[in-house]
Amino acid sequence: MGETELRKQIVETGLLLLEEGLVARTWGNVSARTDETHFLITPSGLSYTRTRPEDLALYDMKNETYEGSYKPSSEKGVHACAYANFPEVSFVIHTHQNYASAFSVSGIAELMMTDEEKEKLGGIAVASYGLPGTGTLKKAVNSCFAGGAHTVLMSCHGAVVAGRDKDEAMERVQLLEEICKRSYNGHDGSETAAVAYSRLDIPLKAQLDDMAQMIGKEIPVVKDNPEAALSKYPAVLVPGKGILVKGRDDDDTKALELLAEKAAITALHCRSLGIKTKLPWLDVAIMNYVYRKKYSKKKEG
Ligand SMILES: [Zn+2]
Repeated sequence: MGETELRKQIVETGLLLLEEGLVARTWGNVSARTDETHFLITPSGLSYTRTRPEDLALYDMKNETYEGSYKPSSEKGVHACAYANFPEVSFVIHTHQNYASAFSVSGIAELMMTDEEKEKLGGIAVASYGLPGTGTLKKAVNSCFAGGAHTVLMSCHGAVVAGRDKDEAMERVQLLEEICKRSYNGHDGSETAAVAYSRLDIPLKAQLDDMAQMIGKEIPVVKDNPEAALSKYPAVLVPGKGILVKGRDDDDTKALELLAEKAAITALHCRSLGIKTKLPWLDVAIMNYVYRKKYSKKKEG
């Protein structure tokens, strides 16, 4: 397939992921192999709605350099691992999808799937934790690919899926979410996870990287005048009512809403399995700092 067509497919896939709620904001990334040593990838920090085919970075795996007017996504190393391990793989998608993210925290022992589905996923494994964009994360994901799994849950972060082409990769992403949703036992769906969690009347601790980045170590419980508390916190938990959020703009607020709901889905899931986890405070502090620095720079520039 020609480079022009692949560029179009990547942009389309990004928009589809956004539409289906499998990523929010600029999180997640999509790539396609153009030859043995190169792949095209979505740029770092550019929203999917603004990404044009010509904005994609062309990454050289051999020399670790790129061509294009935008820097490639910081998870390019994870994509490179997929291409290096599987000669037949030509399309890679990294998502922050809700239910797979919950299972990235709990592990996959409770997943209910048939052997046929497992085969459709191309094998599934969980990579041990590494901070986003680091060599530790790349190494952890690489060992899952090296073991033969084409669908990998990145611990406390999201999923990365490799396929022969766009359709196979996208089908795996969707099937993974379907399997995780069916295996989930946290709340019954008659209300949002945020409302269900708020009834517990306890703070919601960060278990996923994107919440750590955008919100910080926890969403505190605020009973009196929660609106006023939003001048101090990006999100507050109001018992019995849910989670109130306030971003700097509409876009920001929408992303916070999605993150809060996913955090609640994950927390309820882990509680139902008796699993207690939270991200180490130092990792949370680092991610929160890096995110804010990057974000404020972008807003200024
Ligand atoms: Zn990610």
